[in-house]
Amino acid sequence: MEPEQAASTETESGIDLLVIVLDTNPSQHIVRQNPQNLTQILEAVIAFGNAHLMQKAQNKLAVISCAHHATNFLYPQPRRQVELRQIDGQYEAFSLVEKTVKQQLGSILMNAPRLGSPCESLLAGSMAMALCYISRLHGMLAAGVKMHSRILVLTGSNECSSQYMTFMNVFFTAQKLGITIDTCALDKTLSLLQQGCDITTGQFLKVTQLDGLLQYLLWVFLPAPQMRHKLVLPPPPKVDYRASCFCHRELIDIGYVCSVCLSVFCKYSPICTTCHTIFKTPGPLPVKGKKKKKDKQM
Ligand SMILES: [Zn+2]
Ligand SMILES: [Zn+2]
Repeated sequence: MEPEQAASTETESGIDLLVIVLDTNPSQHIVRQNPQNLTQILEAVIAFGNAHLMQKAQNKLAVISCAHHATNFLYPQPRRQVELRQIDGQYEAFSLVEKTVKQQLGSILMNAPRLGSPCESLLAGSMAMALCYISRLHGMLAAGVKMHSRILVLTGSNECSSQYMTFMNVFFTAQKLGITIDTCALDKTLSLLQQGCDITTGQFLKVTQLDGLLQYLLWVFLPAPQMRHKLVLPPPPKVDYRASCFCHRELIDIGYVCSVCLSVFCKYSPICTTCHTIFKTPGPLPVKGKKKKKDKQM
């Protein structure tokens, strides 16, 4: 009886998979300000990833770099094995994470195309890649083994409203699959990612001081989402639920919505550019009509 119970609790606890999406775009404000900041962020991410691995032997980690031109896996690297020298007192798995991430990122930055002007990071695409990776690992699980997955996005980029559709697809897919999305914003408040965290019951945190980054990460993002309700964490921010219009990719308060495909536009257009439905030209809006009458009376 007893061994059976022990086995069942073990499978219930299962595997915790953490996928870190790290924005390595050189045109981020904090990186342009001081290139050393990227090193500091990277050190914090490696230490944080190792802390996650340390919690449980079954835990898994993946790190994805997201730049303006490509998305790459920094860890794990199934094909290229990194040469490891034994360091006294350090667990091999930790130095493997550190070496692999640093080597990969080094080669990616060396081979990146030169930037003429600041470019947006491919954040939504990288998150989609993280979802694909999670779903692949799910498919490879042995029967009866449970896996809890989550994605942590670390970025100093501006709002990427041009990727609105991809973001929304990622958020709702994650919600359906029970994957939590956490975001650590390093520069600006990002309302789209805030929406994603809210939809998937993740944490959104804006870090103002880079020096305390690792402490913030360990405090807010290390505990598994199932445990967080027992902890005192920063209160959830008021989420800005604006949508971005499909014509200019800008966040808008009030707009026109296509009744067929729910595309959002900031200006009236007789043909929906997404589904090509043709609409009748609307009559004058009631508020405007009243104003005109008033004008005439005057
Ligand atoms: Zn527009
Ligand atoms: Zn439409």
